[in-house]
Parts: sequence; structure tokens; C-alpha cells
Amino acid sequence: MPDYMETPRWRDMHVHVREGDAVYTLGAVSAAYCSDILVMPNPFPPHGIDTMERLEAYRKECRAACGPNCTPHMTMKLTPNTTPDLVRAAARAGVTGFKLYPDGATTNSHGGIPQEWLLNRPSIFNETLHAMQEEDLVLPLHGEMPKSFVWDREKHFVEVFWNLAWDFRKLRIVVEHITTAEAVDKVQHLATAGFAIRATITMHHLWMENGASDWHGDGLYPDRYCKPEAKRPEDWQALIRAVKNDAFFLGSDSAPHVPGTKYCYKGCAGCWTACTPGMLVTTFEKHGLLDHLVEFTSRRAGRFYRLDDRPGVVKFRKESWQVPKEIAGYTPFLAGETLPWRMVP
Ligand SMILES: [Zn+2]
Repeated sequence: MPDYMETPRWRDMHVHVREGDAVYTLGAVSAAYCSDILVMPNPFPPHGIDTMERLEAYRKECRAACGPNCTPHMTMKLTPNTTPDLVRAAARAGVTGFKLYPDGATTNSHGGIPQEWLLNRPSIFNETLHAMQEEDLVLPLHGEMPKSFVWDREKHFVEVFWNLAWDFRKLRIVVEHITTAEAVDKVQHLATAGFAIRATITMHHLWMENGASDWHGDGLYPDRYCKPEAKRPEDWQALIRAVKNDAFFLGSDSAPHVPGTKYCYKGCAGCWTACTPGMLVTTFEKHGLLDHLVEFTSRRAGRFYRLDDRPGVVKFRKESWQVPKEIAGYTPFLAGETLPWRMVP
């Protein structure tokens, strides 16, 4: 077994860098080892990034935070008010895509697309999606139906992405942070058949091999609590198998919270893993997947999002390391636990 390794710089295609001063802290954390990140559009509640003005201001901050070696690719929030004209303006401005949040599905998703629109798309919504397809934008999906029972939310969304893929054959679709064997199966099926659909998988869902037992089995681990939840061990097994398939790549869904909102009466969902990329190396080594690491963390996203490769490597050393209880004021995933691999300068 190696005790040192290098990879090309990673691409994390699902990151929350929050707002205000946090952008600078969190952007720099990802920029330390990523050549590209896809920035989610849900800061600044209740609107999120849904106008060109908000986009330009936020992009400026993200670029400053990420520095010269990491490109923040921007998304905007798809809402019932998103028009084909706005889609075209966003495409001209270099926006990568519009993120679809079902209204009420997750943090700051209010004002997203109503669940009823997903099941029976009105023509104004179809026109917007057509414009996205024409402009060659990407449609990242938060794949949960907010009105379903909490563990069935992803299951009930499968029909939605399946229909979108069939109805918009050239629209590039990404089902974000999938957690179920069924979602793996359906995305893989469509991608193999030539549809322009992929899915991201997070580092924390790949870590929790016992599924829900790993975050509330013998006690509640707030730092491991996320949405969508880690579910059954069979679901985890499907995610681990998916890592070998071209249809799946890294989107960490890194979502930091301060201890005050993580360890409290109504703790926030979200795992902050961007600060500990060594945990993914640990997972891949443990399950015999190291040969697939570079494809998963860099190459596949590069092909799908058509990104230029950049020079530079990320270095990891096998060196026992205790994850701090807090990093830059936020609670990391696996706070206080020991990891065998760590990123080194
Ligand atoms: Zn997210």
C-alpha cells in the first residue's frame, strides 16, 4: 500500500460557499486543491442568485475568494419567474447552469420550482427548459420531492429526472448528491443509453457504509447529519459500485455550519467535507477503488462540463490525523475523529 500519492487538482461540482465573509474562507478551502468548483446559487435567502445583478456581485466575490488556480463556475436558481430571456442573458454572461430546487426541499430552496410543476410541467416552464437546452446550459437537480415521506423523497423524484431526460434529449442534466440504489440504477441506465445525464456523489455518503446507522445508530452525530440522508447499507453499496462508472463524479455538497447551529435544538443538515479531502482517499483505499480516484475527482466532470485541464497536483500522505472539532469556525464532518490520510502542502 502506498503512503504517499499525488492526483491532478480535483473538481468539486457541488459546493456551498455561503455569503459575506464566509465566501472568502470557504472558497479558499476548496481552492487549495480544486481546479474547478460548481457554486450553488442558494445564499442570500429568500431569493438566492436569481437575477443577473446578484449573479455578477456573487461571482466577483467567488472569483476573489478562489484566486488564480481555481475557477468558480456559477449557477443561478431556477424559479417560476425564470424566463427564456434571463436564460439567454445568463448564457451570454458565462453562467454554467440553473439549479432546480423543488420549492421547500432543502436550505433556502423556498421560491424554487413547485412540486406540482415537476409532475405536470406548465408550458412556461417547458419554454425555460427549452431555452436552457438551446443555450447548452446545465441543469443540476436537487432530486427530492419535498412533500413525500423523508426517506422516499429521492425515490419519488426518479420519475421527474427520467421524464426530463426523455423530453430534453440534449439538455445536460446532473442529479445531485444521489443516495439510493434506485437513483444509481436509473442514472446509469440513461447515461449508458446515451442520454446527457450524470449524477454527483458526495464524500460523506461514500463514507457512511452502514447508512443511517452511521449518523444516528448508537447516538446522534450532528456533524454527519445531511440531506438527503444516508439511508440503507444496500444504498451505500450501490454508491460504491457507481464510483467505477463514467456517469458519476464528485460533488461534495459541502455545506458548513457553525457549531451553534449544528449542535442545537433544531440542528442544520449539511456535512462540511471540503476541508478534509483525505477522507475520500481513505474511503477509496479501504474499498479498493484507488484506480478510480482521478476519474471520479477530476476527469469525468471535466469531460461533462467541458473544462480545460490545468497544471498542478494535490498531495496526500498516509499520516494519522485527528480532524479538529472546528476549522475556521465551522464544524467539519468527522469532527474529532482520526483519519489515516491527509492532504499535505
Ligand atoms: Zn447542496
